[in-house]
Amino acid sequence: MGAASAISLGDPLEGLDLPPSATGVLIIDLEALIRNYFKLRDEAAPAECAAVVKGIGYGLGACEVASALFANGCRTFFVATLSEGETLREALPDSVIYVLDGLLPGSGPDFAGLGLRPVLGDMAEIEEWARFCQINEQKLPAALHADTGMNRLGLKAADQQRLIEKPERLDAVSISLLMSHLACADEPERRENALQRERFVRFAANIPSAPLSLANSAGIFLGPEFCFDLVRPGIALYGGNPFSKRTNPMEQVVSLYGRVLQIGEAQTGETVGYGGAFQLKRPTNYATVAVGYADGYLFALGSSDKRSGAPAYFRGQPLPILGRVSMDLIVFDITDQPQNSIHRGDFVELIGPHFTVDDTAAFAGTIAYEILTSLGPRYTRIYRGGLG
Ligand SMILES: *Cc1c(COP(=O)(O)O)cnc(C)c1O
Repeated sequence: MGAASAISLGDPLEGLDLPPSATGVLIIDLEALIRNYFKLRDEAAPAECAAVVKGIGYGLGACEVASALFANGCRTFFVATLSEGETLREALPDSVIYVLDGLLPGSGPDFAGLGLRPVLGDMAEIEEWARFCQINEQKLPAALHADTGMNRLGLKAADQQRLIEKPERLDAVSISLLMSHLACADEPERRENALQRERFVRFAANIPSAPLSLANSAGIFLGPEFCFDLVRPGIALYGGNPFSKRTNPMEQVVSLYGRVLQIGEAQTGETVGYGGAFQLKRPTNYATVAVGYADGYLFALGSSDKRSGAPAYFRGQPLPILGRVSMDLIVFDITDQPQNSIHRGDFVELIGPHFTVDDTAAFAGTIAYEILTSLGPRYTRIYRGGLG
């Protein structure tokens, strides 16, 4: 598979050195990611702006994303799992990496060996980390996670009280961050936000002092009183809207193009795709594109006689989807395009300036997080810009 110059490219892909066999092309704009980082950093200043790169960097590649951010000043990263931490540690030997899932029984030596910091959210975890520190005669850093109302991970109220009454339980460890997580920050008007903040502040005031962190992406926009010492944005870095009901202040980072395999035509009354779910109401020209739900282009984006689906775009013009999304294929209506404008080997925009990650999520009845983390392994991934 050599480099290709002969393939016919849609405009946004002009000049890219794509393999001739490319089916889907995912472009990740690291310059936009960094501008998003600067925006969040400036919004949260003087708090430190960390980056959440769990879920393999929200589907965009944790090492690529984190390396670009590190080159632009970001020093603290959050991953979900120890194995994500191990991968990131190799790429960034000098960064601070927290593992949100915390300490699984027996994993102390892995954390210490890789220089990773567990986010401790339970008495048993605290005790195990303390024992491990004592054995190693070293106060190793960890974050302490207080649950202030989300009921997911973190020290419950009763355990917080036990720590307040016996703070010496923390004597053997080094708490480098005290954190909590907001459940409803994407809806700024919800009173739970202030309530969680209040509980967080009250707990923090009663245990040995450490840098504080409460805000995710949306939390940063709740105002300076939510930013404390360190903020932990994820989705907003990647261009997703941190709000559920306001316009998106962030820049798009991802665009996705699908390759046209075949052009065809069908008559009024014929159906397209599995289940004959979509019946044509006019003589139709269509393009079959080499992306499907196996690539994370969700089944829910398809159409039927009863419901319209997500469009693709070609030179800025919408192409309605025809019928169900297959595992590896989707079909789009090109009847309204100028004759002979779309050819085998062309690319159509599936996610991009005309149809964003948020638009895609809304069409599929899901959230941008799921669209991003579903982006499949078969795409040709192209990173634009990003270093220093
Ligand atoms: C995922 C996560 C974040 C980032 O949330 P976004 O909404 O993507 O900004 C921050 N903190 C914790 C604990 C998380 O689990």
